Amino acid sequence: MSEIFNFSAGPAVLPKSVLEQARDEMLDWHGSGMSVMEMSHRGKEFTAIAHQAEADLRELLNVPANYKVLFLQGGASSQFSMVPMNLLRGRTSVDYINTGIWSEKAIDEARRYATVNVAASSADKNFSYAPAQADWQLDKNAAYVHYTPNETIGGVEFHWTPDTGEVPLVADMSSNILSKPIDVSRFGLIYAGAQKNIGPAGLTIVIVRDDLIGKPLATTPTMFNYLTQAEHGSMYNTPPTYAMYIAGLVFAMLKREGGLAAMEQRNIAKATLLYDCLDASDFYSNPVVHENRSRMNIPFTLRDPALDEAFLKGAQQRGLLQLKGHKLAGGMRASIYNAMPIAGVQALVQYMQDFAQQQG
Ligand code: PMP
Repeated sequence: MSEIFNFSAGPAVLPKSVLEQARDEMLDWHGSGMSVMEMSHRGKEFTAIAHQAEADLRELLNVPANYKVLFLQGGASSQFSMVPMNLLRGRTSVDYINTGIWSEKAIDEARRYATVNVAASSADKNFSYAPAQADWQLDKNAAYVHYTPNETIGGVEFHWTPDTGEVPLVADMSSNILSKPIDVSRFGLIYAGAQKNIGPAGLTIVIVRDDLIGKPLATTPTMFNYLTQAEHGSMYNTPPTYAMYIAGLVFAMLKREGGLAAMEQRNIAKATLLYDCLDASDFYSNPVVHENRSRMNIPFTLRDPALDEAFLKGAQQRGLLQLKGHKLAGGMRASIYNAMPIAGVQALVQYMQDFAQQQG
């Protein structure tokens, strides 16, 4: 098989070394005679895997002791409802920052439970920027403030952490978690679907401050109550065991490779390479203001959309896969998560230059 580079937004490329290790351990995990998929989630083997995964994630993100780390199912989309169900705590209104399609989905779901105040929005400029904190109309009585630090479809990223004072800050970090160091203590709750920068689909990570859990809406299903999950070590029911195992391998690999500071440097280098290519030519363009450009998801359009199909076909021939933009955005999108090697971005840039020259 010739080398390919996979630019999918998620499920996305996983580190090759992790896939190789999973292959080697597939039929017999550490002499147990079993595949991880076949193990009881309560047995000593899987308990060890789960504990190590949590410990490594805590170390990578430097998670303070007063935060729970939960390994759940249901995707980030379930968090759109679990967050209001659990975090309202007797309050009736919530603040949301609207920066695009994923924020809007979170807002629509929150409206089922609370009065949503859209405290800032970039809808006025087609979601091409992250509103500055000075322009946020926050309500000090809000139960929490929710934002999307990286809009996966729009390619807009906050490169700063908002300050919401006493009001807990909630972040949907699905597409940029583990891409750089963060100060977890600035957040009340962080959630992320795993299938981009963590591991396989089917696992959802929630990191939540202790004092925010335990007062859910009365109608909250047992499974959707963070307290239930925390009290049972994310094993109230059968957790997504194989996805947790692979996530654990990813965490261990990130530690070996220098942790999140090293990832950030690599991610900056990769994103810079691609944005420089986009900016150097009038054949391609990216609509996002420079200071809010995502390092993870880079949408771009061709000057002439009639060439889109030829662009994608030629990319495929060079082993550059899944570059088609989201159906709501059109154009192209290159997702370059942690597991995308710099060689993949170099190959993409080379192809983009060649294609522009041929067609230009
Ligand atoms: N939030 C963001 C920022 C996303 O990128 C996605 C998935 N693309 C979701 C939420 C939804 O995630 P899931 O499919 O895990 O529900």
